[in-house]
Order: sequence, then C-alpha cells, then structure tokens
Amino acid sequence: MVKEILIYPNKFLRTKTQEVEQLNSEILQLALDLIDTMRYYDGLGISANQIGKIYRLCAIDLDAVKEGKGFLVLANPTIVYKEGIEIDEEGCLSFPELYVKIQRASFIIVRAKKLNLKTRTFEDFEIQAKGLLARAIQHEIDHLNGILIIDYISPEKRAIIMKDWMDKIKTKQITYEQASVKEK
Ligand code: ZN
Repeated sequence: MVKEILIYPNKFLRTKTQEVEQLNSEILQLALDLIDTMRYYDGLGISANQIGKIYRLCAIDLDAVKEGKGFLVLANPTIVYKEGIEIDEEGCLSFPELYVKIQRASFIIVRAKKLNLKTRTFEDFEIQAKGLLARAIQHEIDHLNGILIIDYISPEKRAIIMKDWMDKIKTKQITYEQASVKEK
C-alpha cells in the first residue's frame, strides 16, 4: 500500500530505528509498503522511518540505480568496509526539490538480512556496491540512524538553504501535496 512520505521536519526522520528481530507479518507488510511507496514516488530508495515506522528496514529500487531488476529490501544493514570518495548531488523524498552535494564512499561492503520476496524469508546477505547503488545504500543507512542530507551542509549555508527550501515548499503547494499525498 502506498503510504504518506513524511516531510522534514517530521520527528520520525530524526528517530533512530530499532533492529528487526524477525520477519513477522508487521515487518513483511512494512516491506511491501516501502516498495509500493518508493515506486509511487519514483524514489531510488526509502527507509521505514520515512513512512513513520521505526525499524531498521529499507528498500532500494535496483532498476533505478541501474543494477538490474527488482527491489532490495534490507533489514539491519551495516557497512563493514568502505573506500574511496565520490561527491555527487543527492535528493530525498522527504525534501522535495532539494538537492545537496554529498561526499560518500565510492565503494562499500554491506551486510544485512535480505528479504526474499518469493519465499518471504530473510537471508544473510553481503553485497559489494559502487556508484549509485553504494550512494543509495549509504543514504538509506543514514536515514535509519536519523541522519539527513541537510546534515552534510555547513551550518552557515544550511540556514540560507533551508529558508529557501521552506519558502519554495510553501509557495509550490502542488509539490508539497503530491509529496504528502494520502494512501492511493
Ligand atoms: Zn532520503
């Protein structure tokens, strides 16, 4: 089901999420909701706290990050290795129309429990990622820790950028309503 995307400064975006212990019906439903919501809003990825659930669960659209087909749903993802530096612009579903240049590791190794959507079970999973996939995973892990793209802007610049963004959001009612549209 498509859920409402929480827009900054909603408090859930700053809430550190809880480990997922087991795949029960609540977590499975949350995983499916994450996929539906991410597809509906054309996101590369989405985290559970962006739809108001404080679990360490996120989804990535593999097609959108040009790494094949389908979706990656990861519980408790952890970066176990990283190297290199890459700076690129990033957007976020919780900040419509805001783009921030962010420095990320260019290569990461991540361990997680991966949801197998066919068997509906968790599998131990390790992935080596670079490029857009690496960036998307780092972005989603940030979300799960309550870290947002604006945290990468220096404090002096942030005040100005946030004021501009708030003004833009207020004047462009359409974008704001689209972004916080209710269940389909
Ligand atoms: Zn985001």
